[in-house]
Amino acid sequence: AKSSPSQSEFYQAVLEVLESLSPLFEKEKHYLDQNIIERIVEPERQIMFRVTWVDDKGKINVNKGYRVEFNSAIGPYKGGLRFHPSVSASIIKFLGFEQTFKNSLTGLAIGGGKGGSDFDPKGKSDNEIMSFCQAFMSELYRHIGPTIDVPAGDIGVGGREIGYLFGQYKRLTGRYEGVLTGKRIPWGGSLVRTEATGYGAVYFAQNMLQNAGDHLDGKICAVSGAGNVAIYTIEKLYQLGATPVTCSDSRGMIYHKSGINLETLKQLKEKQQAPLQNYLQTHPDAVYKPVADYAPGRNEVWSVPCDLAFPSATQNELNQADALALLANGCKLVAEGANMPSTPEAVEEFLKARIHYAPGKAANAGGVATSQLEMAQNASMIQWSFDEVDLRLKNIMKNIFTSAWETADEFNQPGNLVLGANIAGFRKVADAMIDQGAV
Ligand code: NDP
Repeated sequence: AKSSPSQSEFYQAVLEVLESLSPLFEKEKHYLDQNIIERIVEPERQIMFRVTWVDDKGKINVNKGYRVEFNSAIGPYKGGLRFHPSVSASIIKFLGFEQTFKNSLTGLAIGGGKGGSDFDPKGKSDNEIMSFCQAFMSELYRHIGPTIDVPAGDIGVGGREIGYLFGQYKRLTGRYEGVLTGKRIPWGGSLVRTEATGYGAVYFAQNMLQNAGDHLDGKICAVSGAGNVAIYTIEKLYQLGATPVTCSDSRGMIYHKSGINLETLKQLKEKQQAPLQNYLQTHPDAVYKPVADYAPGRNEVWSVPCDLAFPSATQNELNQADALALLANGCKLVAEGANMPSTPEAVEEFLKARIHYAPGKAANAGGVATSQLEMAQNASMIQWSFDEVDLRLKNIMKNIFTSAWETADEFNQPGNLVLGANIAGFRKVADAMIDQGAV
């Protein structure tokens, strides 16, 4: 990692997985004989491309585009597209690596992939977003397909962007097919896909609590983020009797002790794309703290008293000091809606304290699982009801929990869902690779 600091997030993710796989390698030597580690950390294919688009002033802009097709041992590549200025080859590679194990854990036939661009959607007009999406797809279309690689949304990519991407794919290929997920309902989307990651993270937390004889009802929850995952985490927490008291965006955080007002949050973030600070206009009793006022090196979302925490914004948003603050404030459960939101030092603290800790690849797998349900509906040309998809999502989250929990037990580390999720996810992919020969 030291010789290649530009891939720091990727090395962080690899290290975490390999460390928890060591008990498996001790027990089952054939993985090492098959050189599986070297094979599985190398993406099958990485595509980097120029995205040239014209803004409203007529200026030609250039961004970097990426698609990493990481592993297709158990199914077509599947994973989101992220549009954010922080996107780099390392970020996409780490996300694709994690995605491979997450997708395996869902029990569904989907391989791992991820993509995106350093394009910043903030402040862009609708026309500029369309222009960018069309330019992005003008290269991507030749690499994807419903049985090859099926991208979805992620940070900065929602229903609107998926629409522009799909329209351009159709124009270039002439094919109406399930090549993207996260589509809007009238033209091929699945009910519950919008809600799936947030709902799934809460279902996962519910499984952890129920398994310990506890429940969500009455619990105070800290949630970070104010996007797709955070909003539907908050919605499901309310439905199951808990009270979410925080949310955040890249500019600051809201602490509303009596409970975040979900309608206001949706209005601000889904309809207006407004900063969270505007929440105070209708809820003057809430507290807003801009990032500039956070204690140095801290994310203030994690400093409020809470029973449960749902990091749902981005990678490395919860460090060791944040973890210690959560523990000191009585937090008993962390379920990661985001990908790799906790630093390795923070994870160490959670494992040491033996609280319920669910890594993103287990807790946030509901999003990709529901994407696979969208693929299944597209392929069969049938649309399922909201309740049917929701029930399947619930069952998938329960199965992921059980699989990670039982695998942790099998390796004599009861309750260690990091180890359980990594080994369970890895084993299925590695076994498929071995079955398929020297691939
Ligand atoms: P959105 O773009 O809808 O929302 C992201 C939220 O996080 C926004 O509130 C954004 O604030 C905030 N945020 C993003 N980057 C930063 C940053 N660097 N610092 C502080 N805040 C930041 O994305 P999603 O909700 O879809 O994704 C959130 C996380 O969940 C990501 O880690 C993603 O990979 C993961 N995930 C998403 C899935 C999905 O189905 N959508 C599936 C599985 C995982 P602002 O708007 O101000 O930038």
